Order: sequence, then C-alpha cells, then structure tokens
Amino acid sequence: MDKAFDVIVVGSGAGGLAAAATAALLGARVVVLEKAGQIGGTTATSGGEIWIPRSRQAIAAGIVDDADAVETYIRAVAKCGFDAARSRRFIDVAPNALAFFEQRTHVRYALMPGSPDYHSDQPGACSGGRSLAAEPFDGRQLGKTFNLVRKPLENAMIVGGTSVCTRLDMPRLLRAGSRPQDALYAARLVARSWQDRLAGFSRGTRMTNGNALVGRLLLTLLEAGVEIRLNHEVTGLCVVNGRVEGVDVRNAEHVTSLRASRGVVLAAGGFSHSSAWKTRLFPHVSQGQQHVSLPPKSNTGDSIAIAQTAGAGSLRNPDQPAAWTPVSNVPVGQGRTAPWPHFGDKGKPGVIAVDWQGRRFVNEADSYHAFVLALLAQSNAGRAAEAWLIADHRALRAYGLGAVRPHPWPVRKHLRSGYLLKGETIAELAGRTGLNADTLERTVAEFNRHAAEGRDPLFGRGESLFNRRSGDAARAPNPSLAPLIKAPFYALRVLPGDIGTFAGLPTDEHARVLGVTGVPINGLYAVGNDAATLFGGDYPAAGITLGPALTFGHIAARHALGAGWPANTDWT
Ligand SMILES: Cc1cc2nc3c(=O)[nH]c(=O)nc-3n(C[C@H](O)[C@H](O)[C@H](O)COP(=O)(O)OP(=O)(O)OC[C@H]3O[C@@H](n4cnc5c(N)ncnc54)[C@H](O)[C@@H]3O)c2cc1C
Repeated sequence: MDKAFDVIVVGSGAGGLAAAATAALLGARVVVLEKAGQIGGTTATSGGEIWIPRSRQAIAAGIVDDADAVETYIRAVAKCGFDAARSRRFIDVAPNALAFFEQRTHVRYALMPGSPDYHSDQPGACSGGRSLAAEPFDGRQLGKTFNLVRKPLENAMIVGGTSVCTRLDMPRLLRAGSRPQDALYAARLVARSWQDRLAGFSRGTRMTNGNALVGRLLLTLLEAGVEIRLNHEVTGLCVVNGRVEGVDVRNAEHVTSLRASRGVVLAAGGFSHSSAWKTRLFPHVSQGQQHVSLPPKSNTGDSIAIAQTAGAGSLRNPDQPAAWTPVSNVPVGQGRTAPWPHFGDKGKPGVIAVDWQGRRFVNEADSYHAFVLALLAQSNAGRAAEAWLIADHRALRAYGLGAVRPHPWPVRKHLRSGYLLKGETIAELAGRTGLNADTLERTVAEFNRHAAEGRDPLFGRGESLFNRRSGDAARAPNPSLAPLIKAPFYALRVLPGDIGTFAGLPTDEHARVLGVTGVPINGLYAVGNDAATLFGGDYPAAGITLGPALTFGHIAARHALGAGWPANTDWT
C-alpha cells in the first residue's frame, strides 16, 4: 500500500465526480482513479440533463409536484423492477443533493420547463419541471487541466472545436443563416474558439451540456485539492475481514494498492464496451449482431468483476440492459464516420421511420429508447436492425434531420457523401434505399391520409403530451403530425445505439453494493451506471441517468463518511 485516503473513487464521470466532490467538501482525503487518459467518461459527451423532481428551480417556477406523484411515476414505468427503498431515497435526497452541489460546488442547472416526462400518459407523470439543463461553463477557469477533459461527441461541436449548448446555442445557430443577430452570435462563438486555440487550449473553452457538468465538478475538485490520477485502472479490491479497505490499481509503470479508510466508490460507467457482458445480456448480440456504443471504449464493465471478487451479488438485469437511441453514421472525411444520436428529430411533423420492409414500426415521436426497442424487436426475429427516417422537403428544410441542418444550410454535402438519399418521388427514394417501392408508397399514403386529420391510428402518434411537445407547436391540427407531400423526399439510415447500460450491481438505498445474500458489503459503493437502474429498463424522462448518478454519488460519499443529513433547506 503506497498512500492512504479516506475515500477512493473509481471513474471520473458524473457518479464519480459527485461522490468525490461531496466527500472532499465534507473534509475527506479523496483520490479519483480514472482508467482513460481523459476526465469525464460518457458524462462529458452527454447532454448533461438531469431528472431531479421537486428541485429549488421547479418550486421557484411554481411547478406543483409531490414526492408521492414521483414515486407513482417511477413505480408505473419500472413495473416489476421497482425498488421502493432506492426510489424513495432518490426522491427525498435528489433535490437536496442538487442544492448541495449548487451551494457548495460550481454546478449550476436551469429548469427545462417545456420538457415533460416521456410517458406523459402514465400515472404520476409531470407535464414539465423535473428535467434540468446544465448551465454553460467557462473552461478557462480550469487552466491547463481543461485539455484533460474528454471532448463532446465530434458532431456536437462546430468549427474550431466549439461545443454547442443544446438549449441556448442550437436554436440561434439554426437561425444564423437567416437572422443577422444570430449570425453575429455564431461568429462570436467561433471567434472565441479560435482565440482559445491561440491561447494553447485544445478546443473552445466554452463548455456546454455534459462537458459543462464535468468542468464545473472538476473545478471544485481542483480547488478542494482532490488528486485525480489519469491512466490508472482499478483492477481489484483489498478486502480485510469482509470490509473493502482499498483497491489494486495499475498504470503504465507499476501496479500498486491504495488504502481507503472510509470507502471505495465504484463509478466506472457500466459495460457498454464489454463484449462478454453484451453477449450475455443482449439477445441481438448473442445472435451475432452489433449496435453502436456511444460511451468511451474504457467503459468495459470492470466494476462487475471487481465487486464480485469481494462477494457482490449477481447483476440486476432489468427489462432492458441498456439505454438506447437511434444513431446515424455521419461521414466526416478521410473515410471516417462519427455517430449522430437522433434524440429529437425523428418525431418532427413530416418525418416517419420505416423498417427494412418499408413499413412503419413505431410511434416516431416516443422516446429514442422506445424507438430502438421496437427496432431491436425485429433484429431478434433474425435480421440486423436498421431503419430509415423518411422526410419530405418541407420537414427537412424546416427542422433538419440528424446532421443535416435546416434551411438555409445547404444539404448538398450530405447528398454527395451518401449520408442523405433523395428521390423526386417516394418510389424513386425507395429505389435509392433498396426498400420495396410499392410498400413504401403504401406506407406514406396511409400515414398521410390520417396525418392530414391529425391522427395516427396505427401507433397513436401525437396523442401524448410528450409527442406533441416534441413536434412543432405551429402545426395544426396536431403538432406531431404532417403528411409527407412536398417533393423531393429524403431518407437517412439509422442503427441501434446505446448511450450507457442499465443492468448493474445490486445496491441499497445508501448506494452500498449488496453481497450474494443481499447483505451490504462494508466499505463498497456503486453509483452511476455501475449500479442497476432505478427505472426497470425504461427511459422515462430526460436526465434519468445523470440525476440518479449525482444523487447516489452524493449519498455514497455521505454514508461512507458517516455524515449526517442537513436539515431541509429553506426552499423545500
Ligand atoms: C450522446 C449522449 C447523450 C446523453 N445525454 C444524457 C443526458 O442528457 N442526461 C442523462 O441523464 N444521460 C445522458 N446520457 C447518458 C449518460 O451520459 C450516462 O449514463 C452517464 O454519463 C454515466 O455516468 P457514469 O458516471 O456512470 O459513467 P461515465 O461518465 O461513463 O464515467 C465512467 C468512467 O469510469 C472510467 N473507468 C472504467 N473502468 C475503470 C477502471 N477499471 N478504473 C478506473 N476508471 C475506470 C471510464 O474510463 C469513464 O471515464 C447520454 C449519453 C450519451 C452518449
């Protein structure tokens, strides 16, 4: 053993950084061990949205919500995966944990008032106010450490490595071609990025979304003197008389052990890149098929084996082992492609999705997770999962599609690269995609007939509040639906992708890892995607992985240190 700490944190994503920040601010000696050469894990590439019901921000906005309604919603979506103790703990602690982060760290969040829970028809669902978005952050405050933060996804940055804030920048950038004040805004963002590059930063230092969350927590850790060791892979646990007292860790030079007097927090981000676990848990992978995994390659499920050598119980495998999104591969030059997650565009009016037969298979305006579940259901029937998003000219130019920006941005480069296919008629488009022309024509005609009346008898699209909010408020009679009538028509191929895993270690309401008999293992915690989801394999709202990651990171640190809970803050 070479050095002693109170708390050792394994992994530097939201779960790990939240635990480390809490522990450090409560006075502990903390080290964060990170296997990769960069800080931030999947979190740094994420949207950074958090689902924290009953936050100070929601109360200030006059949103009426209560703990029982939240519990009812979690119970309804998690079904037999419902964990009463962990859910109640999350509901009670989450708003206070966020308040702690906002008062004691640099973390700042703003309400997303128009963002309802995804299953707005389920009991306990909220019409808006439980999801929050990260405030952008000036990465220059991190000094040289900024360059060690993992970059956002390639497609989430614009010229000069500027990371784009979904909430604040995106609407203005999309209008930059038509409104001079937004063009100026875009020019300023880009100019700032180039200035940052000249000052020696690896990219623009305006951090947004999940990158901002990481930057903000990181600054707190730096100020609190927390050690962060990159390229340090935790390979095992030191267990003494049934209590976890440290970890084995290796880097390029040596293998060593570190001691933790109060606890080890596993926050290694789940198993998106473990072929063994994927083969075991994903039916389509066991049948020889693949999907795109967006988390970093270092998320290989190490914590599972590590915890199990200390007696952890078997993985809790919910209804779905991963969180899904459709992904398209955008050509980015030199034969390379970069993934584009389709979170919001697939449900815009005038866009539909069809399967390999040219038939609709899903309510396109439901969540990205639900979309891929329907897609995978086909691959389980023995066929690789892929779908086509089909749009008419009006929809494509009004909303864009994937990497294709709306009017007045040109579509030419996407047609040239083959990312986007075009046909003057639906039959011609079918020819380009290899879909059956008669079937696709029938599908579009059938959809159009009802969409014109604002109905979708096949999948009920546009019936839920979430569907309508994801559409275009200006469309009547239904914001989610418009017929595809204006030629030319376009198609874009999407594949299943995961944005993290849901199956995880069994934990209790204090984030302690449970042993095979269900008894907590002393000194061992798991948070973030290393712990099993609270939602039974569903994806019921924006921010449902990062909200619990922050909350249980906070809970784990407090429990490890035996720290009590402050009295309710004055806004509750
Ligand atoms: C494009 C995209 C958008 C998303 N948007 C959202 C969103 O807005 N809201 C939301 O809730 N969720 C979102 N998600 C999902 C969310 O990002 C993840 O669920 C979350 O970041 C997981 O956090 P974590 O702390 O568990 O792990 P991570 O952030 O992945 O961090 C885990 C870290 O552990 C390290 N590690 C692995 N093994 C070891 C080891 N043996 N030793 C040391 N370190 C190790 C890894 O290198 C990694 O850096 C999104 C995901 C993607 C891809």
